[in-house]
Amino acid sequence: EEEWVRRSEKLSIIGQLAAGVAHEIRNPLTSLKGFIQLLRAKDTPYTEIMLEELDRINSIVNEFMTIAKPHAVTYSACNLQSLLDSVIKFMQPQAMLYNVDIQLETKGVARLIPCEPNQIKQVVINLVKNAIEAMLSGGIVTISLEVVSDERAVIRVADQGAGIPEDKLPQLGEPFYSTKSTGTGLGLMVCQRIVEAHKGNISIASTVGQGTTVTIELPCYR
Ligand code: ADP
Ligand code: MG
Repeated sequence: EEEWVRRSEKLSIIGQLAAGVAHEIRNPLTSLKGFIQLLRAKDTPYTEIMLEELDRINSIVNEFMTIAKPHAVTYSACNLQSLLDSVIKFMQPQAMLYNVDIQLETKGVARLIPCEPNQIKQVVINLVKNAIEAMLSGGIVTISLEVVSDERAVIRVADQGAGIPEDKLPQLGEPFYSTKSTGTGLGLMVCQRIVEAHKGNISIASTVGQGTTVTIELPCYR
């Protein structure tokens, strides 16, 4: 018991430190980015690479802050349908760029769920990003919302992308596991953390060559 308490204290100190470091890294990054953008006018191919690498550091730092930040989470009663609508709006530019159509399906009566809306948005955004990135020649991402019982709501994000080989499934959500050249391998880990904090479940089903469906179950109000 005591051991466990000490361990969780240690974790929160490391978490605070990590969030502090991540925060401090952001300022020099922003200034570097500005100067490199100025250099870009000189038209060398290296500046593009530098900007890409900076973006990569930036997304690692951002995702890291989501994980480590010792924020006091305030839950409110939230309408999932409108939350999903706003995520779809937010993702529309990237979807169009990749020739992807995002569709929303809802089943059952609308229900409120206790959540920190920005965190649940973050989860769905990460999943939709993965779905888009898995469909190299475009396709449809289906987000569905279903109230499956008095107490549970289910969100599914399904794509028609490359799929994930079965032997790779256990590695999903491991920090820095990514098969993408510009990936951070932190997106699914963040999703897992957030869903667990909401007392929900997340699972992934995939068929290579056909697509992937991520299912999130969350408690909802009656
Ligand atoms: P990242 O997207 O930065 O690579 P994630 O944690 O979001 O990191 O995902 C980890 C890995 O899981 C991805 O690199 C990819 O190999 C695999 N993956 C996740 N979602 C999907 C999906 N919808 N379709 C195919 N592969 C996926
Ligand atoms: Mg991702």
